[in-house]
Amino acid sequence: MKDATLALHLGYEKDNQKAMQVPIYMTTAYEYESTEHAARLFNLEETGNIYTRLDNPTTRVFEKRIAALERGIGAVATASGMAAVFYSLTNLVQSGDNIIISNKLYGGSITLSTHTLNKFGIKAKFFDVHNPEMLEDMIDEGTKAILIESVSNPALAVPDFEGIGEIAKKRGIILICDNTIATPYGVKPLTLGCDIVLHSSSKYIVGNGSAIGGVIIEGKSAKEKLSSYRYPQFNEPDESYHGLVYNKKFETPFTARARLALLRDFGAVMSPFNAWLMILGLEHLYLRIKAHSENALEIAKFLKSQKNIKKVNYPFLEDDINYKYAKKYLKYAGGIVSFVVESFEKAKNIANSLEIFSLVTNIGDSKSIVTHPASTTHQQLNKEELIKAGVDEGLIRLSIGLEDVEDLINDLKKALN
Ligand code: PLP
Repeated sequence: MKDATLALHLGYEKDNQKAMQVPIYMTTAYEYESTEHAARLFNLEETGNIYTRLDNPTTRVFEKRIAALERGIGAVATASGMAAVFYSLTNLVQSGDNIIISNKLYGGSITLSTHTLNKFGIKAKFFDVHNPEMLEDMIDEGTKAILIESVSNPALAVPDFEGIGEIAKKRGIILICDNTIATPYGVKPLTLGCDIVLHSSSKYIVGNGSAIGGVIIEGKSAKEKLSSYRYPQFNEPDESYHGLVYNKKFETPFTARARLALLRDFGAVMSPFNAWLMILGLEHLYLRIKAHSENALEIAKFLKSQKNIKKVNYPFLEDDINYKYAKKYLKYAGGIVSFVVESFEKAKNIANSLEIFSLVTNIGDSKSIVTHPASTTHQQLNKEELIKAGVDEGLIRLSIGLEDVEDLINDLKKALN
């Protein structure tokens, strides 16, 4: 079946009520048949519902559908996109290890990697996604993960997927891609050398700014890499499960451990109600991402025609530094356009003057949004970190919604003048 069909039907079998929409199993726990049955479930000898911190029938439908759209073989939903980033990294690292991250990432992923994980003894090193050969010298015995974004937020960098994937494969390092902005309809990173994909499903997946969520998807290639000496936690007995070895027991060891160890212990699980909203969002994601991307390209072209704008970033603009990668790898680049004006003050004035665009720190809503990263999302980064993240003080980020594009252009014209 094709993606649009999978997104509507996969993983749901109607019960006697014949409900057309997936029911919301709003429950904390599930009744066991007997103490023996409960013991078998807890010992992972049998699969079945135990407790919603680990698994839930509504959430399972969302996980199956997004895994299929990404060409993955397993998925685990989380309470937020940041929980998905956190679990993806902490599933791989132990104190003393290091990770290599793109120098153009979402600000939250940078602070997690460079500040919070650093306090747990994990070091983050930056690389340029257009110069994958840098990785050769950076990878060492302690390197456990490489983290990139398919279209980065807010710099909109599109990586050299194949170049990075080739080195990650040769050196046996798990390559994680945050696919929040492009969505699986824009690109499928698991088919381009990545092993793990993650999303903030708070954005295009839910599609209307109604709920926070995240998801981690495991590709088929992860298991082989995880069987190396580099990842002992997947190959040595887990005493908290009576000696379970994830790589032996599961075809999807990455998502199995994220669920059974990390969700069990850290608990940032997606609520079944939010999973249901994500299911609704996935139903028409393919229509929305096309419309967001078409509107965004038109707005990027309009901005390019304006004087007083120093730079416009959109991967499908022909003179954009990312164009050759976008042409090669992306079907859609999503609805984020950014541009740079001469100063911090000018950027703030434009953001304050827009009327249809709301001044909000979010992306991927059906309604258009304007953000000034230097005063909000990236405020915690110092000047050097801002430059590394590709965030100029005069940078304005637009998340182009589904309004009529002419209305959006008229709003921008007024604010720019
Ligand atoms: N990844 C990207 C690319 C994002 O843009 C964001 C949030 O903006 C996140 C992860 C974090 O997601 P959440 O806000 O759902 O925790």
